[in-house]
Amino acid sequence: MNIQGLLDDIVTENNAALQEGAVADYIPGLETVDADQFGIAVAMNSGETYRAGHSSTNFSIQSISKVFTLALAMALDGDELWTRVSREPSGTPFNSLVQLEQEHGIPRNPFINSGALVVTDRLLTLTADSQECLQTFLRQQSSNPLIQVDEMIAASEKATGHRNASLAYFLTSYNNMVNPVPRVLNAYFRQCAIAMSCEDLATAGGFLSRGGRGVDGSVLTADQVRRLNAVMLTCGTYDAAGDFAYRVGLPCKSGVGGGILAVVPGICTIAVWGPRLSKSGNSSAGVTALAKLTARTGWSIF
Ligand code: GLU
Repeated sequence: MNIQGLLDDIVTENNAALQEGAVADYIPGLETVDADQFGIAVAMNSGETYRAGHSSTNFSIQSISKVFTLALAMALDGDELWTRVSREPSGTPFNSLVQLEQEHGIPRNPFINSGALVVTDRLLTLTADSQECLQTFLRQQSSNPLIQVDEMIAASEKATGHRNASLAYFLTSYNNMVNPVPRVLNAYFRQCAIAMSCEDLATAGGFLSRGGRGVDGSVLTADQVRRLNAVMLTCGTYDAAGDFAYRVGLPCKSGVGGGILAVVPGICTIAVWGPRLSKSGNSSAGVTALAKLTARTGWSIF
């Protein structure tokens, strides 16, 4: 299969999809990006990496960071975390407060903001510095020691993150937040503000398609990685998980920075990036590209 040829074709064909939707503006820093960029990278389990477009341009990984914090928490904590967060799609916006009250402070899943705040809180308890732990992990797994937080985005999130603050205090009221809220929020904003390229992301996520095997030993057991991929499939793409499963057929996690990480278990990890988001909050160009790539390669978990 000529994967490089497929990626080149997809980049060439992707101009229309690239104009669809709008860049996220509720975090003002995200608006400063050049929205006409598109990148894609495929990291094969066999070792080769294919790339096309703006695949080495850094972007804000935002909620894609939640896959990695969840992986680290699962690695350190086993099943303990699941007493504090569920594993069901939410059917409400990723930053909604409503469900949290109805369900007595137990977030629906670890990828909506309330759930991710619980994961970050747990990781803070387990590691003392969740942000440092995450950054070290991403640098190791991608073999890129330059990965770091985009301070402008982190400050922008902090200045406007009132809803996340509300969620964190609300969780505290249900005794589902252990560390002081400002500490958890700071760690959460900084993890979301990490800047990475498609190449970095596809490489760093390699353990997800290799049964938990990272660059330097096991990150998760094969059983844990199967479960993490299941949560990505059912909860990783906001309220569009059904449509994603239908069109792409892979575990994916997207972020409001326009990135999407996709896993083809046993074969490869894919990262795409296009800043304009559809109404569902997923990158328009990214979804179109993944749908084309999976249709042309036959990559699917179904
Ligand atoms: N930092 C963003 C927020 O908390 C992440 C949202 C996302 O990418 O889904 O609102």
